[in-house]
Amino acid sequence: MAQQKCVPVVNAARCKGCGLCVAFCPKKVFEADFEGKCIVKFPEACVGCLSCDYRCPDFAIKLVFGD
Ligand code: SF4
Ligand code: SF4
Repeated sequence: MAQQKCVPVVNAARCKGCGLCVAFCPKKVFEADFEGKCIVKFPEACVGCLSCDYRCPDFAIKLVFGD
């Protein structure tokens, strides 16, 4: 059976560029842009640990699960 896939989706309007998601993602899925706001650089590396969703102080990240 294939492993369920997931990707983080960032609401750019909510992101204030604190860098927590970039710092704590164990798979380095995120990268900061020129303003420090996070961009989803390697979505295929996401393992669905939910760390980014829990840590974002602005509720800017949601995990979307699919197959
Ligand atoms: S769910 Fe985990 S692995 Fe996926 S982007 Fe968030 S912190 Fe990274
Ligand atoms: S944790 Fe949230 S507010 Fe901070 S950089 Fe990531 S998406 Fe933006």
